[in-house]
Amino acid sequence: MSEVPTLESNATLDQTRERMRATLQGIIPDFEIDLKAEIAHHINALKKEMNAVILGHNYMEPALYHSVPDFVGDSLQLSSISANTDAEIIVFCGVWFMGETAKVLSPDKTVLVPSREAGCSLAAGIQVSDVRALKLRYPGAPVVTYVNTYAEVKAESDYCCTSGNADKVLKHLFGLGHDRVIFLPDEYLARNSAKEVGAAYFTAFKDDEEDRVKGAAHTVIGWNVRCEVHELFTVQDVENVRRQYPGVVILAHPECSPGVIAAADVSGSTKVMVDYVEQVAAPRYALFTECSMGDNLAAQFPHREMVRNCSLRCQHMNQITLEDTLEALQKIQYKVELAPDIIARAKAPIDHMLAIR
Ligand code: SF4
Repeated sequence: MSEVPTLESNATLDQTRERMRATLQGIIPDFEIDLKAEIAHHINALKKEMNAVILGHNYMEPALYHSVPDFVGDSLQLSSISANTDAEIIVFCGVWFMGETAKVLSPDKTVLVPSREAGCSLAAGIQVSDVRALKLRYPGAPVVTYVNTYAEVKAESDYCCTSGNADKVLKHLFGLGHDRVIFLPDEYLARNSAKEVGAAYFTAFKDDEEDRVKGAAHTVIGWNVRCEVHELFTVQDVENVRRQYPGVVILAHPECSPGVIAAADVSGSTKVMVDYVEQVAAPRYALFTECSMGDNLAAQFPHREMVRNCSLRCQHMNQITLEDTLEALQKIQYKVELAPDIIARAKAPIDHMLAIR
């Protein structure tokens, strides 16, 4: 879990403003900090009054990320926190599938996501009917679903995975004797993870691709959707950044294309990126991921030089604002509701993942 010092719930408005100015100076304009400090102050007072906890994903905008969350991190880290909190209300400042995962792990709590519109191109790209069709087409192959899926899709699968442990889950399944694994839904994460574990890859229902990998000892069967943000990074972008910023270390998220991953210096989840910037000294760092994260790390580690030339903001993450977070607490909205059988069935693949050592 990344350690971002949180603001005390009983901090005065002046203290809130000063702390935010100290952290965010040079990251966002002063007038914006002052405006947002007022909202953050209201939120922090209200969350204490309501016995709520706020979780902030690494892709939240800097003013939110550095003011109201009690915890920050990636989606699974935050969901695990939510399972262990005493708070009655969990406000998940992230996208909808993350709220669902928190609800699966904490079914007795009220879980709120501040916007109903906060979707995800990956989660939207795979339906229950698709998973059932895949199981029929490739019988016996276990189904691994990336955490970026809705609960009803997780409920159809055998294992869950994150971008940080996809290769570990694949190795585990191949180690159990499976020669084929269905890996959903991110095509690039599936391709990158297959390469990592030395497995062949083909996209489901593409017979010509399947024919080309016949005879492989281990095969990953992928799906044809991608993260609408990470798929936009190109090898040319990597080359341009290297030319422009000598000595830069490029860290790319495994939802980027295999070409970008091969050209980058480090491939890893958002947690890997945070840890790397914190622990490994380099002249400068460029993150090939959603662009708020570069700003958040620039504020968190002012002694590190982050290349902040990013323009790739996730439209779904961008739905979550301080204003909406305040309204979420005031109106107890938007509640994540899941049927009990979906919760039970979606929890099983998460438990299977967590049981892998
Ligand atoms: S950055 Fe990509 S994977 Fe993450 S929420 Fe946005 S669309 Fe989904």
